[in-house]
Parts: sequence; C-alpha cells; structure tokens
Amino acid sequence: MNNEIGYEIDFLPVGEGEKSGDAIALHWGNILSNDPTKQTVVVIDGGFADSGEALVEHIKKYYQTSTVNCVISTHPDNDHVSGLSVVLEKMTVNCLVMHRPWLKEHTNGISDLFVHGRVTDKSVRNRLKEGLDAAYQLEQLALNKRIQITEPFTDVGGYSGALRILGPTQDYYESLLPDFRSTPQAKQESSISTLFGRASSAVANAVKKFAENWDIETLDNDGETSAENNSSAITLFHFNDEYILFTGDAGIPALTQAVNLLVGEGFNFAKLKFIQVPHHGSQRNIGPTILNTLIGNRVNQTKIKTAFVSAAKDGEPKHPAKKVTNAFLRRGAPVYATQGKGLLHRSSNIPLRAGWSSASSIQLYTEVEE
Ligand SMILES: [Zn+2]
Repeated sequence: MNNEIGYEIDFLPVGEGEKSGDAIALHWGNILSNDPTKQTVVVIDGGFADSGEALVEHIKKYYQTSTVNCVISTHPDNDHVSGLSVVLEKMTVNCLVMHRPWLKEHTNGISDLFVHGRVTDKSVRNRLKEGLDAAYQLEQLALNKRIQITEPFTDVGGYSGALRILGPTQDYYESLLPDFRSTPQAKQESSISTLFGRASSAVANAVKKFAENWDIETLDNDGETSAENNSSAITLFHFNDEYILFTGDAGIPALTQAVNLLVGEGFNFAKLKFIQVPHHGSQRNIGPTILNTLIGNRVNQTKIKTAFVSAAKDGEPKHPAKKVTNAFLRRGAPVYATQGKGLLHRSSNIPLRAGWSSASSIQLYTEVEE
C-alpha cells in the first residue's frame, strides 16, 4: 500500500493561550479514491481532550473514515496524551503504540535508585500510574477495548512498515524513569534535573536579547529538557523516496541517539523532506549539531526541506523560540507554526484541499531572546 498515490499530514491547532500541545493525523495510500480502505490512517498524539474531539471530526471529514490503523502516544505529558482517549472511545482503533513505564519489566529493582529506603518497586509503579494518570487511563481503555498495545522502542535494522521508531532504546528509556516527576527523589540527581531546575529559575530575570542574522547563530547544543520529554517516541515515516521525521518533545540527547542511528546506517539525509520542530519550538530541545546533520551546515536560502511546529497561539517567545525558527530557516528549512490554525503537508502529487490556502512560513528574526 506504500507505493501508490500519496500522503497528507495534518497538524491540528492545540491549546489555549500559552499552552502548546501536539495533535497530528496522517494518512497515505490511494487517498484520492473514495474508498477509505485504500489508505492507512495514523494519529500521533492527541493534545488535550478538546483536541481529541477535533481530531475525530477532522479524520471523519477529510479522511472519510472512522477507522484509525494506529495511534501513537509519544510521551505521557497531558498536552500530548489527553485527547487520545477520545480517539480510542469514538473511533475504531486497531493498535496503540505507547510506553508503559509501570510494567514490572521496566521497574524491577528501580527502588534501589531512590534516596528513601522505604521505596519499593511497587510503590514506584503506583506513583508512575498516579502521576501519569492520563497515560494510564489511555492504557486501561485500550486494554478494555482489547486494542493491541506495543511500546515504542528503537526498531533496529530498518522498517517493517511505513513507520519506524528511531528512539528511545529500551535502555535509554529505563534510565530516564527515575527522573520522571512522579517518582521519588533519585539518589543521583542526574544532570538533567539539576540543570533543568537551574535554568527554569533564571526565567524570572529580565529577558536579554541578541542580534542574529543569516550568519550569526546564538542557538547552542547545551539545552536541557525533562526526562518525560526525552522519553518521547521519535518516528520516521517513509513514502516512496521521501522521509518525514516526527520528534514529539524529545530533547538533545534523545534526538542525538536517533540521528546517530541513521548516520550509522548511511542514511541519505537529502531524502528527509519534512521535520517536526521538537517540543513546540523550545530552544532547550535542539542545537546546531543535530540540525547540521538533519538539514545541513551551510546558510542555504533555498528551501530544501519543510518544518512544522505545534505552538500555541500565544506561545511566543518560548514556543517557538526565534533562535530555533532562525536555525531551521538559515539551513533551508522554513518553519510553519500552527498558532491557532491547522497545517497540512502533502506529497507533491496531491492537490491542495478544497477551501484551504497555502500558509506562510516564519521569516528570519534579527533579534532573538536569550
Ligand atoms: Zn508538549
């Protein structure tokens, strides 16, 4: 089914005010026919509960079906997972891809890693279930509905279908669990939580501004994000000779592992045509080194790739950060932001949807926030 006709990828608008989130739907196959069985439909994250409703309506209206072949939950934060329960409740879902951190296989012996002596593996599992309630509810719903659940760990050695999980590896995922917000205090404060805490307290200070242009880049490789974000499933979609990268809220260590996997396989990055800007465009999740591999390391004012970011209407200056959109644009990947409206990316043989108009990308900023 992968070698015919085309694909469409929809980023739905998520979130009120400053709160961003992800709700993504895609379908591929003979999507121009009136036969919905000739396509494959996938949902990647469902935003908040109201975005889940919007996803259901969107798929029924534009994909002409109430069947979703696969739902992927990148990570358990509410702005990604809450809406997925609505999709499972209101549509026919054939498979669910999500992490289940509370399973015994991920938490055997985990109690040794915490400061407090009375912590048990079971109490950690319970805290994960309680702290990640929306994700746990999603899992329970899938079990009740007898929907097959698979955990998204690195597919080594290529594709078995159109979608491939590049990361996290199971080892890396399990190493992140002691730093999840809902677990007790870990014995060794990892560099992640220390630096993350310090960085957040600096936000209260006045925001400094820096000059940027095509040649001056202030984005660095030192950004830190939460353990939950780094646990995000990173997915590569391929259709004929084109590749598309979905990043969830993954941060620099997680993305580096995924990108290095491809580098090691001799992947041709020229075939990567579309990149989701990670974590709503936060400057803590991406750096020049990864972008140099994914896109290129020279200023390229010709558009060679497309980038989408799910960002709330009032998400700026954090979502997306100007130095991030500049970094993509500078390399030849202009960024389009949802900011309250839906965005559609499609293969070149698919006509623009009736009633939709072309979007404009974010221009180069000459001043960026610290
Ligand atoms: Zn998020």
